[in-house]
Amino acid sequence: MSIAAGTAPALIATSHPLQRAGAWAVAVMADRATPEAVTVADVDAVAARVVEDVVAAASAPKEATAYDWWKVLFALYPNSKATHNKRTRDRAVLMPEVAALFAPDAAGPPKWPCTFCGTPAAVVWTKSNLPMYDTNKALNTLPPGVSGWPICRGCRVAAWAMPYGAWVTAGSATVLSCEQDSAERDFAARNVLRARRIRQLGFPEPGVGTRPEAVVLRALKSLGPDLPTAATLSSFKNDNQEPWLRVTRTRRAVPVFLAVVEGNAEPRRGWRLLEIALVHRDKSGQPVTNGPAEAARLLFEAEDGKSRSLLSQLHRLLDGPDASWSLRNRAALTRLAFIYAEEVLGMKPDLKPVATVIADWIEHGSGAPRGRLAEYRSVALSDYKLGTLLMQAHFRLTLDGRKVAAGPEDWQPLIQQRPRAWEQRMLLSATVLQLLQQRGVGVNERPVEPDAEARTEAMVGLPILDSGAEYDDYDMGAA
Ligand SMILES: [Zn+2]
Repeated sequence: MSIAAGTAPALIATSHPLQRAGAWAVAVMADRATPEAVTVADVDAVAARVVEDVVAAASAPKEATAYDWWKVLFALYPNSKATHNKRTRDRAVLMPEVAALFAPDAAGPPKWPCTFCGTPAAVVWTKSNLPMYDTNKALNTLPPGVSGWPICRGCRVAAWAMPYGAWVTAGSATVLSCEQDSAERDFAARNVLRARRIRQLGFPEPGVGTRPEAVVLRALKSLGPDLPTAATLSSFKNDNQEPWLRVTRTRRAVPVFLAVVEGNAEPRRGWRLLEIALVHRDKSGQPVTNGPAEAARLLFEAEDGKSRSLLSQLHRLLDGPDASWSLRNRAALTRLAFIYAEEVLGMKPDLKPVATVIADWIEHGSGAPRGRLAEYRSVALSDYKLGTLLMQAHFRLTLDGRKVAAGPEDWQPLIQQRPRAWEQRMLLSATVLQLLQQRGVGVNERPVEPDAEARTEAMVGLPILDSGAEYDDYDMGAA
């Protein structure tokens, strides 16, 4: 294989998610707009920084805050010389060993194409120096006669700069892949700052801190509505026995959805109410979850299908055992659900006529509406049972000589087992409850308490779609 020497760029961002996150981290740390703009001198400077931090973490005593960065490194490179439990704690010994990992290639042959980017590489690494190597299905073949993976210098530095550009915890790293470079850069830049804080101060308290999904949402929001873009988060976790990978992604229409929510008062209020509702508190009233971060998670769908959806969460809020909404707030949450269905799921549901049939039947039947409301609630999400209830309501209203707002052809799409029928039934339920509340029929499971309402109202006024408390004290200019 002939490879032109001397012309290769210092760094290339590839489509491999971990290498790519590392390349962006190098670009951010070198203050370059893109990985391709990174120079050899930049790679020198970033490598020196990485070496210094690795050695500081690896030689830190267990009780020191600097030890938190060692936990990050240990989770990602558990078998490297710098992180291994049997490593030396002597800086003078560690320093040259670690620095050698990132030394420039020796001149002359032999060279092989870099496993990640194809640039000529003279250094061959075993998997002990590569993050999460076992989960790394992309790298499983070796060139003939080579005893490890050829990795060019840019990619070697990127492999260890990765935790700076990733969202890290003491046992995991989450990286972003996005069609828009600016969102990837934004995510990496936030994480480089966060990594600095972790090295200086250790990890923030668990629970109320923000999450990578909230940071991504902020980046997607900054793209504006004209750039439909999907974002993919890959989380790698390594307990040194069974590394795993979890992938979640947003749909491409999410930036449009965020712009519509942000630009319109009612859904903006709905989103804020959702965030507030997702703040869980312990017995002493201290928050144990970060509402904006929990809300952001609802826009990400897991590859394995095991994730909560925004619509099911809204349904739980609107019709759950704790439901207690003023008409205004119920309308705002319902509007949010419809905008999500329209903008993100591409639905165009017109559910008012069918909802009116159910609301009329609940309101005007004999005796108190409460029993019929409970009956509807118990079948609201079931295809077959909802169909039976609708026929019953239709029959009853006709018998009573009332106007019937919709017929079986209108509710057919809701009671069949077909895509989006569940979502339609959920939106129907939200519409029925809103109609009934407008008519003065009690639909809340708990009465609306003025004090709680005032507290919620005060919180609604706070900033929307913010990525949460953890960054508030993360001054962008902090040293
Ligand atoms: Zn490379």
